[in-house]
Amino acid sequence: MKAIEILNGNVEALTFLIGVILSSIISFIGYKSESLSRSGVVGAMVTGTLIFGFGGWAAGLLLLAFFASSSALSHFREAQKSAVAEEKFSKGGKRDLSQALANGGMAALLAVVWRLWPSTIWFAALVGALAAVNADTWATELGVLNPHPPRSITTGRVVPVGTSGGISPLGTGAALAGATFIGFVAWLLAQLPGAWLTPAYSRSLTVILIAAIAGLASALFDSLLGATVQQIYYCDHCQKDTERVVHSCGTQTRALRGWSWMDNDVVNFLASVIGAAVGAALVRIVG
Ligand SMILES: [Zn+2]
Repeated sequence: MKAIEILNGNVEALTFLIGVILSSIISFIGYKSESLSRSGVVGAMVTGTLIFGFGGWAAGLLLLAFFASSSALSHFREAQKSAVAEEKFSKGGKRDLSQALANGGMAALLAVVWRLWPSTIWFAALVGALAAVNADTWATELGVLNPHPPRSITTGRVVPVGTSGGISPLGTGAALAGATFIGFVAWLLAQLPGAWLTPAYSRSLTVILIAAIAGLASALFDSLLGATVQQIYYCDHCQKDTERVVHSCGTQTRALRGWSWMDNDVVNFLASVIGAAVGAALVRIVG
Protein backbone atom coordinates (compact mmCIF):
# COMPACT_ATOMS: atom_id res chain seq x y z
CA MET A 1 0.00 0.00 0.00
CA LYS A 2 2.77 2.38 1.03
CA ALA A 3 4.76 1.50 -2.08
CA ILE A 4 1.74 2.22 -4.31
CA GLU A 5 1.17 5.58 -2.63
CA ILE A 6 4.79 6.53 -3.18
CA LEU A 7 4.56 5.31 -6.78
CA ASN A 8 1.37 7.32 -7.38
CA GLY A 9 2.99 10.36 -5.85
CA ASN A 10 5.97 9.97 -8.15
CA VAL A 11 3.74 9.54 -11.20
CA GLU A 12 1.90 12.77 -10.29
CA ALA A 13 5.16 14.61 -9.74
CA LEU A 14 6.35 13.30 -13.11
CA THR A 15 3.15 14.53 -14.85
CA PHE A 16 3.77 17.99 -13.40
CA LEU A 17 7.40 17.92 -14.42
CA ILE A 18 6.43 16.97 -17.99
CA GLY A 19 3.78 19.73 -17.84
CA VAL A 20 6.36 22.33 -16.84
CA ILE A 21 8.83 21.18 -19.52
CA LEU A 22 6.22 21.04 -22.33
CA SER A 23 4.71 24.41 -21.33
CA SER A 24 8.18 25.95 -21.27
CA ILE A 25 9.03 24.63 -24.75
CA ILE A 26 5.68 25.75 -26.22
CA SER A 27 5.87 29.17 -24.52
CA PHE A 28 9.41 29.63 -25.83
CA ILE A 29 8.23 28.81 -29.37
CA GLY A 30 5.31 31.23 -28.85
CA TYR A 31 7.72 33.95 -27.75
CA LYS A 32 10.09 33.33 -30.67
CA SER A 33 7.24 33.34 -33.21
CA GLU A 34 5.97 36.60 -31.65
CA SER A 35 2.67 35.09 -30.49
CA LEU A 36 3.50 35.81 -26.84
CA SER A 37 5.02 38.78 -25.04
CA ARG A 38 7.36 38.24 -22.05
CA SER A 39 4.49 38.40 -19.54
CA GLY A 40 2.45 36.20 -21.91
CA VAL A 41 5.14 33.52 -21.56
CA VAL A 42 4.54 33.52 -17.78
CA GLY A 43 0.77 33.24 -18.30
CA ALA A 44 1.12 30.43 -20.83
CA MET A 45 3.51 28.51 -18.56
CA VAL A 46 1.24 28.80 -15.50
CA THR A 47 -1.97 27.85 -17.33
CA GLY A 48 -0.16 25.17 -19.37
CA THR A 49 1.37 23.54 -16.30
CA LEU A 50 -1.93 23.57 -14.36
CA ILE A 51 -3.96 22.22 -17.29
CA PHE A 52 -1.43 19.52 -18.11
CA GLY A 53 -0.49 18.69 -14.50
CA PHE A 54 -4.08 18.42 -13.19
CA GLY A 55 -6.01 17.66 -16.38
CA GLY A 56 -3.55 15.20 -17.95
CA TRP A 57 -2.50 14.63 -21.54
CA ALA A 58 -5.90 15.08 -23.20
CA ALA A 59 -6.49 18.48 -21.54
CA GLY A 60 -2.89 19.56 -22.24
CA LEU A 61 -3.09 18.64 -25.91
CA LEU A 62 -6.44 20.45 -26.25
CA LEU A 63 -4.77 23.59 -24.93
CA LEU A 64 -1.97 23.06 -27.44
CA ALA A 65 -4.57 22.69 -30.25
CA PHE A 66 -6.00 26.09 -29.26
CA PHE A 67 -2.61 27.75 -28.97
CA ALA A 68 -1.13 26.33 -32.18
CA SER A 69 -4.18 26.97 -34.37
CA SER A 70 -4.74 30.49 -33.02
CA SER A 71 -1.08 31.44 -33.42
CA ALA A 72 -1.06 30.10 -36.98
CA LEU A 73 -4.24 32.04 -37.84
CA SER A 74 -2.86 35.28 -36.36
CA HIS A 75 -0.03 35.11 -38.92
CA PHE A 76 -2.50 34.36 -41.75
CA ARG A 77 -2.86 37.43 -44.02
CA GLU A 78 -1.19 39.46 -41.30
CA ALA A 79 -0.64 42.57 -43.42
CA GLN A 80 -4.32 42.84 -44.31
CA LYS A 81 -5.35 42.56 -40.66
CA SER A 82 -2.72 44.75 -39.00
CA ALA A 83 -4.39 48.04 -39.95
CA VAL A 84 -7.64 47.01 -38.22
CA ALA A 85 -5.76 45.59 -35.23
CA GLU A 86 -3.74 48.77 -34.75
CA GLU A 87 -6.74 51.01 -34.90
CA LYS A 88 -9.44 49.02 -33.11
CA PHE A 89 -7.98 46.30 -30.89
CA SER A 90 -6.58 47.12 -27.47
CA LYS A 91 -3.50 44.98 -28.00
CA GLY A 92 -1.30 43.83 -30.87
CA GLY A 93 -0.64 40.28 -32.07
CA LYS A 94 1.45 39.30 -29.04
CA ARG A 95 -0.56 37.87 -26.17
CA ASP A 96 0.33 39.29 -22.75
CA LEU A 97 -0.29 37.93 -19.23
CA SER A 98 -3.91 39.02 -18.86
CA GLN A 99 -4.76 37.71 -22.35
CA ALA A 100 -3.13 34.35 -21.56
CA LEU A 101 -5.12 34.14 -18.29
CA ALA A 102 -8.32 35.28 -20.04
CA ASN A 103 -7.86 32.49 -22.58
CA GLY A 104 -6.51 29.66 -20.44
CA GLY A 105 -7.59 30.66 -16.91
CA MET A 106 -11.01 28.99 -16.88
CA ALA A 107 -9.63 25.76 -18.38
CA ALA A 108 -6.84 25.75 -15.76
CA LEU A 109 -9.38 26.25 -12.97
CA LEU A 110 -11.51 23.41 -14.35
CA ALA A 111 -8.49 21.07 -14.55
CA VAL A 112 -7.79 21.69 -10.84
CA VAL A 113 -11.47 21.21 -9.90
CA TRP A 114 -11.60 18.03 -12.00
CA ARG A 115 -8.69 16.57 -10.01
CA LEU A 116 -10.11 17.61 -6.62
CA TRP A 117 -13.70 16.48 -7.29
CA PRO A 118 -13.50 13.83 -10.00
CA SER A 119 -16.53 13.84 -12.30
CA THR A 120 -16.74 13.30 -16.05
CA ILE A 121 -18.70 16.56 -16.27
CA TRP A 122 -15.52 18.64 -15.80
CA PHE A 123 -13.99 17.39 -19.02
CA ALA A 124 -17.04 18.64 -20.97
CA ALA A 125 -16.74 21.98 -19.17
CA LEU A 126 -13.04 22.13 -20.05
CA VAL A 127 -13.79 21.29 -23.70
CA GLY A 128 -16.49 24.01 -23.65
CA ALA A 129 -14.09 26.58 -22.17
CA LEU A 130 -11.37 25.88 -24.74
CA ALA A 131 -13.94 25.72 -27.57
CA ALA A 132 -15.07 29.19 -26.43
CA VAL A 133 -11.63 30.82 -26.54
CA ASN A 134 -10.77 29.07 -29.80
CA ALA A 135 -14.07 30.22 -31.34
CA ASP A 136 -13.40 33.80 -30.27
CA THR A 137 -9.82 33.81 -31.56
CA TRP A 138 -10.69 32.24 -34.90
CA ALA A 139 -13.62 34.66 -35.27
CA THR A 140 -11.40 37.65 -34.53
CA GLU A 141 -8.58 36.51 -36.81
CA LEU A 142 -10.79 35.52 -39.76
CA GLY A 143 -13.84 37.73 -39.21
CA VAL A 144 -11.93 40.91 -40.14
CA LEU A 145 -11.34 39.38 -43.59
CA ASN A 146 -15.08 39.29 -44.34
CA PRO A 147 -15.64 41.06 -47.71
CA HIS A 148 -18.39 43.28 -46.23
CA PRO A 149 -18.37 45.25 -42.94
CA PRO A 150 -20.05 43.48 -39.99
CA ARG A 151 -23.40 44.32 -38.42
CA SER A 152 -23.99 45.03 -34.74
CA ILE A 153 -25.44 42.00 -32.94
CA THR A 154 -27.85 44.26 -31.05
CA THR A 155 -29.02 46.85 -33.60
CA GLY A 156 -28.33 45.05 -36.91
CA ARG A 157 -26.72 48.24 -38.24
CA VAL A 158 -23.56 48.08 -40.35
CA VAL A 159 -20.50 48.93 -38.21
CA PRO A 160 -16.81 49.40 -39.18
CA VAL A 161 -14.58 46.30 -39.39
CA GLY A 162 -13.17 45.31 -35.99
CA THR A 163 -15.95 46.99 -33.95
CA SER A 164 -16.75 45.11 -30.71
CA GLY A 165 -20.15 43.47 -31.00
CA GLY A 166 -20.04 43.41 -34.80
CA ILE A 167 -20.82 40.04 -36.39
CA SER A 168 -20.37 38.78 -39.95
CA PRO A 169 -21.03 35.49 -41.77
CA LEU A 170 -17.28 34.77 -42.01
CA GLY A 171 -16.69 35.62 -38.33
CA THR A 172 -19.60 33.48 -37.14
CA GLY A 173 -18.54 30.63 -39.44
CA ALA A 174 -14.98 30.90 -38.11
CA ALA A 175 -16.29 30.79 -34.51
CA LEU A 176 -18.23 27.62 -35.27
CA ALA A 177 -15.21 26.10 -37.06
CA GLY A 178 -12.85 27.02 -34.20
CA ALA A 179 -15.18 25.46 -31.63
CA THR A 180 -15.75 22.34 -33.74
CA PHE A 181 -12.00 21.97 -34.20
CA ILE A 182 -11.51 21.68 -30.40
CA GLY A 183 -14.29 19.06 -30.26
CA PHE A 184 -12.70 17.17 -33.15
CA VAL A 185 -9.28 17.12 -31.42
CA ALA A 186 -10.95 15.89 -28.17
CA TRP A 187 -12.67 13.12 -30.14
CA LEU A 188 -9.43 12.25 -31.95
CA LEU A 189 -7.46 12.01 -28.67
CA ALA A 190 -10.12 9.68 -27.24
CA GLN A 191 -9.64 7.29 -30.21
CA LEU A 192 -5.96 6.81 -29.42
CA PRO A 193 -4.94 3.68 -27.53
CA GLY A 194 -3.72 4.04 -23.95
CA ALA A 195 -4.87 5.79 -20.81
CA TRP A 196 -5.99 9.22 -21.96
CA LEU A 197 -8.37 9.66 -19.02
CA THR A 198 -11.15 10.95 -21.24
CA PRO A 199 -14.79 10.17 -20.37
CA ALA A 200 -16.92 7.83 -22.54
CA TYR A 201 -18.78 10.66 -24.30
CA SER A 202 -15.51 11.92 -25.80
CA ARG A 203 -15.20 8.65 -27.74
CA SER A 204 -18.42 9.41 -29.67
CA LEU A 205 -19.30 12.38 -31.85
CA THR A 206 -21.17 13.83 -28.84
CA VAL A 207 -18.03 15.69 -27.77
CA ILE A 208 -17.82 17.47 -31.14
CA LEU A 209 -21.45 18.56 -30.82
CA ILE A 210 -20.84 19.78 -27.25
CA ALA A 211 -17.80 21.84 -28.32
CA ALA A 212 -19.58 23.31 -31.36
CA ILE A 213 -22.66 24.47 -29.43
CA ALA A 214 -20.68 25.69 -26.38
CA GLY A 215 -18.23 27.62 -28.56
CA LEU A 216 -20.86 29.21 -30.78
CA ALA A 217 -23.04 30.18 -27.81
CA SER A 218 -20.07 31.80 -26.06
CA ALA A 219 -19.02 33.64 -29.25
CA LEU A 220 -22.49 35.19 -29.51
CA PHE A 221 -22.35 36.04 -25.78
CA ASP A 222 -18.92 37.62 -26.38
CA SER A 223 -20.36 39.78 -29.19
CA LEU A 224 -23.35 40.72 -27.05
CA LEU A 225 -21.06 41.96 -24.25
CA GLY A 226 -18.93 43.73 -26.87
CA ALA A 227 -21.98 45.59 -28.18
CA THR A 228 -23.34 46.54 -24.75
CA VAL A 229 -21.22 46.65 -21.57
CA GLN A 230 -17.62 46.34 -22.87
CA GLN A 231 -15.62 49.54 -22.35
CA ILE A 232 -15.25 51.30 -25.70
CA TYR A 233 -13.24 54.50 -26.23
CA TYR A 234 -13.55 57.25 -28.81
CA CYS A 235 -10.81 59.10 -30.66
CA ASP A 236 -11.90 62.71 -31.21
CA HIS A 237 -9.10 63.26 -33.71
CA CYS A 238 -10.09 60.41 -36.06
CA GLN A 239 -13.77 60.37 -34.97
CA LYS A 240 -13.67 56.61 -34.58
CA ASP A 241 -14.39 54.27 -31.69
CA THR A 242 -11.73 51.86 -30.46
CA GLU A 243 -10.73 49.50 -27.62
CA ARG A 244 -7.50 51.47 -27.18
CA VAL A 245 -6.77 53.98 -24.40
CA VAL A 246 -4.30 55.70 -26.72
CA HIS A 247 -5.38 55.55 -30.36
CA SER A 248 -3.09 54.41 -33.21
CA CYS A 249 -2.79 58.11 -34.22
CA GLY A 250 -1.30 58.92 -30.79
CA THR A 251 -4.38 60.73 -29.44
CA GLN A 252 -5.58 60.00 -25.90
CA THR A 253 -9.08 58.56 -26.29
CA ARG A 254 -12.08 59.12 -24.04
CA ALA A 255 -14.55 56.57 -22.63
CA LEU A 256 -17.56 56.31 -24.93
CA ARG A 257 -19.65 53.57 -23.39
CA GLY A 258 -19.52 50.43 -21.26
CA TRP A 259 -18.17 49.58 -17.81
CA SER A 260 -14.62 50.70 -17.04
CA TRP A 261 -13.48 47.25 -15.80
CA MET A 262 -15.09 45.36 -18.68
CA ASP A 263 -12.15 45.25 -21.08
CA ASN A 264 -11.60 42.74 -23.85
CA ASP A 265 -9.78 40.29 -21.53
CA VAL A 266 -12.66 40.26 -19.01
CA VAL A 267 -15.12 39.71 -21.88
CA ASN A 268 -13.04 36.78 -23.18
CA PHE A 269 -12.77 35.24 -19.71
CA LEU A 270 -16.54 35.51 -19.16
CA ALA A 271 -17.12 33.97 -22.59
CA SER A 272 -14.98 30.98 -21.53
CA VAL A 273 -17.07 30.68 -18.34
CA ILE A 274 -20.22 30.56 -20.50
CA GLY A 275 -18.57 27.99 -22.80
CA ALA A 276 -17.76 25.82 -19.77
CA ALA A 277 -21.30 26.15 -18.37
CA VAL A 278 -22.91 25.26 -21.71
CA GLY A 279 -20.50 22.32 -22.13
CA ALA A 280 -21.34 20.99 -18.66
CA ALA A 281 -25.08 21.49 -19.18
CA LEU A 282 -25.03 19.74 -22.56
CA VAL A 283 -23.21 16.66 -21.25
CA ARG A 284 -25.95 16.31 -18.61
CA ILE A 285 -28.52 16.30 -21.41
CA VAL A 286 -26.85 14.27 -24.16
CA GLY A 287 -23.77 12.67 -22.54
ZN1 LIG B 1 -7.15 58.61 -33.71
